[in-house]
Amino acid sequence: MSSPFRITATDGGARAGVLETAHGPVETPVFMPVGTKASVKAMLPSELRDLGARIVLANAYHLYFRPGAELIHELGGVARFSGWDGPVLTDSGGFQVFSLLHTATRIDDEGVRFRSVYDGSRHHFTPEVAMRVQRLLRSDIAMAFDECPPAGVDRARVEAAVRRTGLWAARSRAQPRAEGQLGFGIVQGGIDLDLRRRSAEEIVGVGFDGYAVGGLSVGEEREPMLETLEATTELLPADRARYLMGVGDPEGLIEGIARGVDMFDCVLPTRLGRTGSALVPGGRINLRNAAYATDGRPLVDGCACPACTGFSRAYIRHLITQSEISGLRLLTVHNLHHLLDLAARARAAIAAGRFADLRAEVAGSAESKHHESVAKASRLPDS
Ligand SMILES: [Zn+2]
Repeated sequence: MSSPFRITATDGGARAGVLETAHGPVETPVFMPVGTKASVKAMLPSELRDLGARIVLANAYHLYFRPGAELIHELGGVARFSGWDGPVLTDSGGFQVFSLLHTATRIDDEGVRFRSVYDGSRHHFTPEVAMRVQRLLRSDIAMAFDECPPAGVDRARVEAAVRRTGLWAARSRAQPRAEGQLGFGIVQGGIDLDLRRRSAEEIVGVGFDGYAVGGLSVGEEREPMLETLEATTELLPADRARYLMGVGDPEGLIEGIARGVDMFDCVLPTRLGRTGSALVPGGRINLRNAAYATDGRPLVDGCACPACTGFSRAYIRHLITQSEISGLRLLTVHNLHHLLDLAARARAAIAAGRFADLRAEVAGSAESKHHESVAKASRLPDS
């Protein structure tokens, strides 16, 4: 099986590369904006493209219910349906099924029975269903169906999830895929290094086009998260793309890249935008704070995004406090730019052999500032 991923440069543990998809190449490391319901909230596809986004996420669980995978299939697949002419990665729905655990009625080796968050109707998700939905959506990358337990559960519960994730990976892989659709496996195991090793061996043994590290940033502390990540990426084949699911705050992105991760997603930039906050070096600022009422500076000095080149903190604060839609749009534009630009800077730094400088810069600004930390942003449904 030839790899759709090619490494173009390395710098320490960091890699730069290109992932070939049915909708074209994606340069890595890459940040993938989250479009849960086939829409990156408040953004048009053309705006995403202008910001440098090259691949977006969509979620099989939500699209299965609304508007329905068959409808999207009939209308040309999720990319065409949403007016985004680039690659799309679909989450299998496993994370939603388990993060909305109060809706699950029965979990066994066959799959998960649960009630829809939309109307309470009964459904049964299995690896076969999850792959069929993603096939109908015609995403470029389909994720295997996995079991993602929350942080803090006992070892037996994590071990059971690892066992089931292995079974489901093999069944996911055996399913047909849309033309040109890549299949990624997901390694689970919480922060238990033995279970991570077991899961990685099982998932790599099944054989996928790329590998995701799931089950991190679900509530655990940052240090064990990074230790687990490092131990896990070392077990993954070097010639396949690696995706750290649900991590995309600036420090997490850079520290993930340092540990050999190529792909990231996070609802952080869009969610922060909708709550009135802007990412700044070292943290974030909340524009609702009265201190910004007379602040004529941009969100971030020197930021090249349309929000920062055209508008002041005072104006954006005014929009936010008056619930003007353009206020949350400007914050979302800036926050997405912040992460997309950081990933682009990482690619350039790796190619130039100076990734350590960028890593030190990001770590330094995180330590020197006293903004609210964004490090604990966890992977929650963006709805
Ligand atoms: Zn900006």
